[in-house]
Amino acid sequence: MTSVARDAPFASLPSVDKVLGEATTLSLIERHGRTCVVTAVRDWLAEKRADIAAGRPAAIDEATMASELAHRVARQVAPRLRRVINLTGTVLHTNLGRALMPTEAVRAVAEVMESFGNLEYDIESGGRGDRDDLIVPILAELTGCESATIVNNNAAAVLLALNTLSRGKEAVVSRGEQIEIGGAFRLPDIMARAGCKLREVGTTNRTHLKDYAEAIGPKTGLVLKVHKSNYAVTGFTAEVEEAELGALCRERGVPFLVDLGSGALVDLSRWGLPKEPTPRETLAHGASVVTFSGDKLLGGPQAGIVVGDKDLVAKIKKNPLKRALRVNKMTLAALEAVLGLYRDPDRLREKLTTLRLLSRDTAEIRALAQRLKPVFERALGEGVSVSVEECASQIGSGAQPVERLASAAIVLRRSGPKGMSPTKLERTLRALPVPVIGRIADDALRLDLRCLENEAELCSLLDVIPVKTGIQPGR
Ligand SMILES: *Cc1c(COP(=O)(O)O)cnc(C)c1O
Repeated sequence: MTSVARDAPFASLPSVDKVLGEATTLSLIERHGRTCVVTAVRDWLAEKRADIAAGRPAAIDEATMASELAHRVARQVAPRLRRVINLTGTVLHTNLGRALMPTEAVRAVAEVMESFGNLEYDIESGGRGDRDDLIVPILAELTGCESATIVNNNAAAVLLALNTLSRGKEAVVSRGEQIEIGGAFRLPDIMARAGCKLREVGTTNRTHLKDYAEAIGPKTGLVLKVHKSNYAVTGFTAEVEEAELGALCRERGVPFLVDLGSGALVDLSRWGLPKEPTPRETLAHGASVVTFSGDKLLGGPQAGIVVGDKDLVAKIKKNPLKRALRVNKMTLAALEAVLGLYRDPDRLREKLTTLRLLSRDTAEIRALAQRLKPVFERALGEGVSVSVEECASQIGSGAQPVERLASAAIVLRRSGPKGMSPTKLERTLRALPVPVIGRIADDALRLDLRCLENEAELCSLLDVIPVKTGIQPGR
């Protein structure tokens, strides 16, 4: 008896087939395909059933159904990988996709995507080509290397170099460089996977040349040096200079591998940025092989770049793992275009997005913040206080963890007991059509404007806040 009474509201729900036959549903199918509309209808009906079971049956008229289904389908087909506005203050933000590509790279990628190309075809001889050879000449020009190869990312480059040069042998590393780079990339683990034995030398704070000299022997595959990219050791410390270690390795005939991590191609101090070692310097110091990322300070696509001695790079390229780690034509096109920009250092800052953002003038960021302050005030209303404050941006991706870049931020705080909390504010900005990502610290939402180049877009996004959230705009 009771079960019949309870079932009655369920019976009022239409069947899947009935919903699929409605004109509005048919037009959704026309636009988005049957599979995804069927899923949306099933999910929608399940939600209605759950509502009834929970004792809150909703009246379902055709217009409501049509609009709810249209929303569901729109959500389902919307791309999951979305653009966001990075106001975190970290320029090379790994979770937000690191370096932004300059227009030149975007054009080059679009072109190779849509057409055939000489990826592995030698146009001159008409024979088979090598995809690395497309990039070797420009890398030689920019780093002074004899040879080069490109893989999926720098983690892959390190793995591949270790596996090729030291498998079944010892890799000599300082205890001060037993590091974790983030995202579960820990040097000892990578060594184990690469099949090499870790031979630790020195101590956490001090390693001397004689420590290396004593460790090198018949079992040595290579000596590895890792650039301190995401940490600093200070106080009573000693580290062996690259050039000294390079000379020792050349003398003893063992490969010297240097993982530079970020690896800036040019001296960044020219633009007021902290100096990072360049692959050219590291090679000149005697490194046999140097690895670095494509999408950190270089400002290009995700890639791992391996430069070094011809014979060692040739060995690396013959490793079957290389085939598994190779890059696609889009990566090569973007990388070639970005590397090309380095040929003209005088225009590099203007053209290379990452460098432009990193070296942006603080006064310009401050002025931008002042212009945006009233826009935020209008959009967020009385529950929020808006101020412009000095802040410090980070390069990100491990590059120069200690150095900070002077910048300016819009800082949003709750105003009055009924005001919006920083968490609520953060959620509101994340819910915008193009999510705006800031950082909560000291009970405030901080929006570092260093990476904001499209001011007009942010203004028009803020315009929709009252509509989306029902917050009363302030005067
Ligand atoms: C970032 C980094 C890596 C990893 O590079 P990905 O390109 O992110 O794979 C390796 N070593 C060092 C020192 C790094 O800074």
